[in-house]
Amino acid sequence: MKILVTGGAGYIGSITTAELIAAGHQAIVFDNLYQGHPAAVHPEAVFVQGDLADRNAIAQLFAEHNDIDGIMHFASYTLVGESMQKPLLYLRDNLVNAANLLEVAVEHGVRRFILSSTANLFDAPEKMPISENERIVPGSPYGESKFFVERLLHWFERIYGVKYACLRYFNAAGDTPGRGEDHDPETHIIPIVLQVALGQREAVTIFGDDYPTPDGTCIRDYVHVVDLAQAHILAMQAISEIGSRKYNLGNGNGYSIREVVETARMVTGHPIPTRIGPRRPGDPAILIASSETLRRELGWQPRYPDLESIIRSAWQWHEANPQGYQK
Ligand code: UDP
Repeated sequence: MKILVTGGAGYIGSITTAELIAAGHQAIVFDNLYQGHPAAVHPEAVFVQGDLADRNAIAQLFAEHNDIDGIMHFASYTLVGESMQKPLLYLRDNLVNAANLLEVAVEHGVRRFILSSTANLFDAPEKMPISENERIVPGSPYGESKFFVERLLHWFERIYGVKYACLRYFNAAGDTPGRGEDHDPETHIIPIVLQVALGQREAVTIFGDDYPTPDGTCIRDYVHVVDLAQAHILAMQAISEIGSRKYNLGNGNGYSIREVVETARMVTGHPIPTRIGPRRPGDPAILIASSETLRRELGWQPRYPDLESIIRSAWQWHEANPQGYQK
């Protein structure tokens, strides 16, 4: 397959591009380098720097590559906390950018689309682990913006026959030897914890220890980025036959922030001091995925089902690349 990967210079997009190429597919990366890194783009991918806000740039991309089989859409604003401060960056830009992409894709007859969606759709889950039948209650403008795009896809299927899969990631984590997580500023818990182990920060601030969980800190389901990437490839191969799908994507294991820190202490041998800060707006107490549907329908099998192997892979990359892609 020839796949257009938006956001293919970013964390999850670049690793998925590498997995696609390793599996014998071709990739065209479209990225504005807002958070992405040229060095993260696989050397065998075609790289086009451009912005999804620029409809003409998308039209030119499709005009130059008229044999695209499907789209994996990673490019997006992705931070819950930021979305509570700058809601329109999410509610407007994430929606408009996806709409621009879909509009041009359909004009060029491209009708397979995989969306990076999110567990932030489930702010008030009634059952844990969270299945695809759970009621959708976005926890922030970020989650709402992903829901907007899921709805866009719903109508693009009915009207234009687009087949799609929405992959609702829980907490993407872990790295590969060649590519890793490098955001500026970094806001995600595992890289922050490892920055303390590297001596780049003094301590980790835990955002709230008064949640209704056994140790008072938030519980999340960490899923390795390579396992996420494999889910994209499986979904892209299947949707034409099985039809459009929504999948919750995690390991089904929840770990508290304190457990993350404890595991990182064991992996790195560093004491990793912590301090307690206020809660971060938009954070639900517990998010654990049921990925039963994905396993059953697509045969998805995570290679890194446990937190320790995820943190080990991240530590390997961060130790080798302490300044991220800058080096
Ligand atoms: N978190 C924290 N301290 C930090 C960064 C994150 O306590 O410096 C917490 C955050 O409040 C959430 C969990 O770690 O409960 C995971 O946050 P992250 O930003 O990594 O991912 P998200 O759940 O927002 O996708």
